[in-house]
Amino acid sequence: MPHQRFPSWSPEQALAAGAAFAERVGRLPISIDLHPPLPSYQTIKTLFGCLAGYHIALGAPPPTAEGLLQVHTGRQTRGCLRCDASFLSAHLGNRICPACKRDKEYQAHMGQWMVGEVLRGWD
Ligand SMILES: [Zn+2]
Repeated sequence: MPHQRFPSWSPEQALAAGAAFAERVGRLPISIDLHPPLPSYQTIKTLFGCLAGYHIALGAPPPTAEGLLQVHTGRQTRGCLRCDASFLSAHLGNRICPACKRDKEYQAHMGQWMVGEVLRGWD
């Protein structure tokens, strides 16, 4: 007999939760947001096919290619802390662009950047 560990969501409940999130946070939920009080990513996939389908059901325009990448990976465009270039970052902690990471001078001082001595003035 199948045992249901999680309460199941109706599409209406999932949309109501997504709309409430968007109102509170100011943007639509992405994959990293999909934990209570929002439905899980698995639930979104079951109900809407994918996160982009959820966004469209929430009234968002069909996503751009970069938007889709963000939706599926949680990546966002961020400004590099070292050179100010914008780049697609995989997570919040990743604040240095790939070009700077290849830079010898950066590599020599990487520990300093990582511990936040240089970061302190930026946020
Ligand atoms: Zn950079």
